[in-house]
Amino acid sequence: MRKKIAAGNWKMNKTFEEGQILLSEVVNMVKDEVTNPNVEVVLCVPFPYLSTFGKLIDTSKVSLGAQNCYPKASGAYTGEVSIPMLKSVGVGHVIIGHSERRQYFNESDAFLAEKVDATLEGGLTPIFCCGETLEQRNEGIHFDFVRGQITNSLFHLSAEDLQKTVIAYEPIWAIGTGVTASNDQAQEMHKVLRDHLASKYGQVVADEISILYGGSVNGANAQELFACPDVDGGLVGGASLKSREFTNIAKSF
Ligand code: PEP
Repeated sequence: MRKKIAAGNWKMNKTFEEGQILLSEVVNMVKDEVTNPNVEVVLCVPFPYLSTFGKLIDTSKVSLGAQNCYPKASGAYTGEVSIPMLKSVGVGHVIIGHSERRQYFNESDAFLAEKVDATLEGGLTPIFCCGETLEQRNEGIHFDFVRGQITNSLFHLSAEDLQKTVIAYEPIWAIGTGVTASNDQAQEMHKVLRDHLASKYGQVVADEISILYGGSVNGANAQELFACPDVDGGLVGGASLKSREFTNIAKSF
């Protein structure tokens, strides 16, 4: 059975103090209220908070995630953070290829493939993001475009490594806009992506991969989205900054 995942991406929000309060609220609510053993909650917080937050999470139901990494293990890469560093402070998941990194930091499919490799090599779980712009959808090239992102950054992996990878489909037009893909649009793309994985790795492997939806997921729409057969959870931005709403999302499976 595929793992169901509610992952929060705090992005560049919250001071350390505010973050500590939010973290402890979410951890306590999840401990009490998320009873489904197949549901995993991941909090992807800013780098400077990871070390302290790793020590504050006292439940196996919540794991700590980073929002980025650099593919080299160490060396003269000023300002960057490596996978061994993240691992040493208890990080389990790493978001790779978020559209904001692709857009503002020009991260290419090839560079993201390196990050995926480094993450897997270090024994951490990549949450690999993909998704099209509104223009690409309007032109009707969205399926090919997103399939291409997966091919370029993931199809060099062994089946074993692919199975350790989480994919997040995040249509760019739905991120932080309040516009959510309809359940049908999300399911349609997730099925296209699972079929694409199956074309290379076979159906059995493809059926094991958790594919999350991201783009204005909230407490009101999560249940319907997560009920779609190929939607295995959410990567949540804005709503992950509110403990009550994010916990409600994690209870929506
Ligand atoms: C995200 O940044 O991954 C995201 C989906 O943001 P939001 O939920 O705010 O649309």
